[in-house]
Amino acid sequence: MVVGDIATGTDVVVIGGGPAGYTAAIRAAQLDLDVTLVEKDAYGGTCLNHGCIPSKALVTASSLAHDASTAEEMGIHAGIDVDLKGMVSWKDNIVEQLTSGVEKLCKANGINLVEGKATFADENKVRIVHDGEGQGSESIEFEHAIIATGSHPIEIPGFEFDSEHILSSRDALALESVPESLVVIGAGYIGMELSTVFAKLGTDVTVVEMLEDALPTYESDVARVVKQRAEELGVEFHFEESAQEWEPSGDGITVRTESEDTINEYGAEMALVAVGRAPVTDTLNLESAGIETDKKGFIPTDDRTRTNVDHVYAVGDVAGEPMLAHTGMKEGHVASEVIAGEPAAFDYPAVPAAVFTDPEIGTVGLTESEAEAEGFEPVVGQMPMRASGRALTLNESDGFVRIVADGPSGFVLGAQIVGPEASELIAELGLAIEMGATLEDVATTIHTHPTLSEAVMEAAANASGSAIHTLNR
Ligand SMILES: Cc1cc2nc3c(=O)[nH]c(=O)nc-3n(C[C@H](O)[C@H](O)[C@H](O)COP(=O)(O)OP(=O)(O)OC[C@H]3O[C@@H](n4cnc5c(N)ncnc54)[C@H](O)[C@@H]3O)c2cc1C
Repeated sequence: MVVGDIATGTDVVVIGGGPAGYTAAIRAAQLDLDVTLVEKDAYGGTCLNHGCIPSKALVTASSLAHDASTAEEMGIHAGIDVDLKGMVSWKDNIVEQLTSGVEKLCKANGINLVEGKATFADENKVRIVHDGEGQGSESIEFEHAIIATGSHPIEIPGFEFDSEHILSSRDALALESVPESLVVIGAGYIGMELSTVFAKLGTDVTVVEMLEDALPTYESDVARVVKQRAEELGVEFHFEESAQEWEPSGDGITVRTESEDTINEYGAEMALVAVGRAPVTDTLNLESAGIETDKKGFIPTDDRTRTNVDHVYAVGDVAGEPMLAHTGMKEGHVASEVIAGEPAAFDYPAVPAAVFTDPEIGTVGLTESEAEAEGFEPVVGQMPMRASGRALTLNESDGFVRIVADGPSGFVLGAQIVGPEASELIAELGLAIEMGATLEDVATTIHTHPTLSEAVMEAAANASGSAIHTLNR
């Protein structure tokens, strides 16, 4: 113990108050464990403060501005004036409501909240350094630890974040005025969501991507719908080019990229680097507790979220892909239930994912080729959004619902949706997979008319040749 430390004991110490950590802490408290939650920065973590929630607030606001300014066809004539400072302050207000809600919930559940940065001292002790000159430190002895320290944006060589010329996603979500032009490095889901936001606010967006297409983790027909819409919004794509360096020029910057045989230069006011996220593990002194990481710094865990050290668990982004808030929350549940002696495990047949581009993407379970690779005999049903009355009345008819099922048994195996509200629609198919529902179950369930969810029912019917509003395959 360091001189001056106060040492306390706890059943469970949770390190990190993001969605994975606060869920773990609340669940552990519900199970009558004595819980200490340590957070060094802000409750709610990346998700509430600099990720999911702020980005979705700006997705909504920029879409509203864009839709209103392009609704002539519907007989609406609007002059739109975007005040980004106002938009960001509305977003900050939402963040504040949610983060203070997390803090209140933790307190109401009797969790001991400690503000400070935790590092392991040994297998049963963490040391917490409080922020600020002379704020001191303390040690906590624990029976069990749950590591939920999340991830941070990756920098690429030569493009260190400076919040002025080279922005991380966090910086981009806090801008106070709309940049005239922006180079976005990376066409993954964060790059594509933010490109759409800024294009809708009137920024000239150029996307540079090392790979040969946008959204490389999605099937090409899914990514194509989103890329085409981004191009209609004015986004310019350059694939198979890697960003090399930048230099100031005039009021902005010039970004130099390299492709196989050319060097290219793109001028812009600033650049946003969105090339992925890395785990926050290097600052935890994991060695002192014997906790192992993999080559990329993630903490490997088993299906009970246990690390190589029996009484230490890792949940959320720090434990690896899929790095999504809802995965972290579920893992947080599992960790605490395992600690409490419940028969819990992360044993879910399907984890949904959503991208809040225009249109949205929602996926769950297996694609057709994944199903084939796993030895199924997949059947596929598809319903284009242009055949959905509700999609047309929303003026949002790009995209489709696709359902993949096992031919012989009819069990739903997966779904890919690209279209309006895909992030919501995908939930029905996640439930179908979880419940072991068949195509017939989905196709014969009466869905409200006129809604987008009818497209889910129609896609299921299409797979078995009984769709009414599409030609059956
Ligand atoms: C722009 C953007 C948009 C996103 N959109 C979505 C989305 O739409 N849907 C979705 O599911 N996911 C989205 N994500 C991903 C999502 O934010 C993460 O998957 C989620 O936040 C991970 O939760 P976590 O609890 O594991 O980590 P985090 O949310 O990163 O929280 C970790 C916490 O640990 C704290 N911490 C770190 N080290 C220490 C220490 N030594 N001591 C004490 N505290 C520490 C940090 O301060 C932080 O608060 C998005 C991310 C970004 C960046």
